[in-house]
Amino acid sequence: MPWKTLGQDHLLARLRPALEQGRESHAYLLTGPPRVGKLTLAREVAQAVNCLQGPGAPCGTCVQCRRIANALHADVRVVDIEFSRKVEGRETVNTITIGAIRELERAVNLNPFEGSRTVVIIDGAGAMTPEAANALLKTLEEPPPGVLFLLLAEDDETLLSTIRSRCQTLPLLPMSRRDMLDFLTQQRNASGNPVTGDEADMLYRLSRGCLGWALNALADPQLLAQRQADLERIRETATAGLDARFAYANEVASLFSSNRPAARELLSLWLRWWRDLLLIKENAQEYLHNADQAQALQTHAATLTTPQITTFIRRLQTTLTALDANASPRLAMETLMLNVE
Ligand SMILES: [Zn+2]
Repeated sequence: MPWKTLGQDHLLARLRPALEQGRESHAYLLTGPPRVGKLTLAREVAQAVNCLQGPGAPCGTCVQCRRIANALHADVRVVDIEFSRKVEGRETVNTITIGAIRELERAVNLNPFEGSRTVVIIDGAGAMTPEAANALLKTLEEPPPGVLFLLLAEDDETLLSTIRSRCQTLPLLPMSRRDMLDFLTQQRNASGNPVTGDEADMLYRLSRGCLGWALNALADPQLLAQRQADLERIRETATAGLDARFAYANEVASLFSSNRPAARELLSLWLRWWRDLLLIKENAQEYLHNADQAQALQTHAATLTTPQITTFIRRLQTTLTALDANASPRLAMETLMLNVE
């Protein structure tokens, strides 16, 4: 059975022989942008080491493979912010806490329930607190026998170098335009019609080659409608008075507490909008990310000078860096909104 992970042949060429010969590393670090396919690949690796037909490759049909695909397998544990919230009993938790790592360690020191390999997937490893990261490091230094660790992170720079050095890094890459168009034009959209070349091209641009994003948008038209609404808010807010901008800053700050990835995604949308404004100024429309919004971008760009746009892009980048370093979301967003022009 072929692997379902697409566009990552450079990694599969390394992984497959190791898995088939049972010589896999005890810890891998999968890196890449959101929805590029890290969790999909991690689940497939978990299948590969547990498959009843193998082990070595995911057959996708045996009971082990199916239980893992449906997130029902007791020995394949996903540790993420959600898990951390359950362990801590608080909805406001926004990190992977030391409590979550301790709970995980307790669980992996038991024998596997379903009879084969225990696999730990740390989804969003960059969200571990320093205490949690140090506790995990100790586990990686003396790993429980037979346990496979898969750490997922956007960027390996967000992790302790001592953790990185304990893992083999597998960098996932966005799909090429050609590969994504070939794949998407063989799919059907939410209304059941075949995906057209234009639709596929738009999904490629908006997803920046991250197949998971494109497939979600295809299955759920609400996602594109939400993007449209978010872009309208961005345009309105950028030209609104201070009160409206501060209200928006508070909304985004609350989103940061409840759903950090969604808030980051929203700020990336801001960043791409402002980069597009710069492209309009440079007369480089063919590179627009939001190509379907060319008219609205033109209108907005006409109200700004190039230095105003570049200054704001720099402020946005500073804000994103500060938020990644755990600055107060409210303060960071208010500062940004104070200086919108
Ligand atoms: Zn199988």
